[in-house]
Amino acid sequence: MKQMLTIDGSIGEGGGQALRTSLALSLVTGTPFRIENIRARRARPGLMRQHLTAVNAAATIGRATVHGAEIGSRTIEFAPQGLVCGEHRFSVGTAGSATLVLQTILPALLRGAAPSTIVVEGGTHNPLAPPFEFFARVYLPILRRMGANVTATLERHGFYPSGGGRVRLEVVPCAGLRAIEVVERGGAVGRRATAVLAALPFDIARRELDTVCAQLGWDAAECQPLAVKEPGGPGNVVEVELEFEHVTELFAAFGERGVRAEVVAQRACAEAAEYLAANVPVGRHLADQLPLPFALAGGGAFVSLSASPHLETQCDILRRFMRCEVRRRQESAAAWRFDVIVEA
Ligand code: AMP
Repeated sequence: MKQMLTIDGSIGEGGGQALRTSLALSLVTGTPFRIENIRARRARPGLMRQHLTAVNAAATIGRATVHGAEIGSRTIEFAPQGLVCGEHRFSVGTAGSATLVLQTILPALLRGAAPSTIVVEGGTHNPLAPPFEFFARVYLPILRRMGANVTATLERHGFYPSGGGRVRLEVVPCAGLRAIEVVERGGAVGRRATAVLAALPFDIARRELDTVCAQLGWDAAECQPLAVKEPGGPGNVVEVELEFEHVTELFAAFGERGVRAEVVAQRACAEAAEYLAANVPVGRHLADQLPLPFALAGGGAFVSLSASPHLETQCDILRRFMRCEVRRRQESAAAWRFDVIVEA
């Protein structure tokens, strides 16, 4: 049995990512770990429902022995003992992010002995997590380029704070991921903005899309409102999607009580504008999600904006579980190149 690693969960931004990345890497490397100070820098530290669901999902997939898996827990021990593919259903029980739970177990499922179908019930559109469309149209296409056979379906929208959404993931294992580089966008292929509304007045979507047209200089034909039928509860998200030859990026902002629709749309536009001006292929959120699959592929490179605390956390945790280093080099005022290097 491999030696147990001890991880300090307060590193970097001190959120749930250190835990989820440790779970993902523990499953694929078979290394047991103990994590302390879970979410130490968050207002309500310790395991919340989303993190507990990620722990339980990883424990099921990895037939793991777990200590401390309860709400509020700040320390857990996790020791995987194999891999159980097949059909699994996990329920967050709140609006905690379903996509973050899926990102935790997907790398292991890709290495399984048989296909898997995973259904996660919870939030599909939460602030501070990848919205479903980001997961399906930005993150998964990169994994597919690396050789993964994986598809996601949104079966029901679940907005924060009610949740009640459902995502299905189908995974066919592959012999191994291919190392790739995402260092250029390539030519523009398409762009669109969507204002999604659940149980809210339609006028909100109109004002948001008018704002997108004004801020980004887009045409109304590139913007579409989407009213969700049978949502788990009310919610609103504005998504600005930019499709290029080599990468698709998506910038999201969420409707909030007391925040004007115009301001919500401006937030998504500001992120999109920063990305466009920097002329990089990989935006800030995608940047912290690439090092893990790239490391499992044996390496890779991407060009993005300056490193976020989330990206630093990913690099730290990868270094602990694998002989992996992420080297960086500034390429221009706004662009940085990140090389994921794995020692043989
Ligand atoms: P944590 O804050 O530790 O729970 O980690 C949140 C994860 O969700 C990170 O990988 C973020 O990059 C990702 N994330 C947060 N907001 C977005 C967004 N709007 N689009 C895509 N990914 C996001």
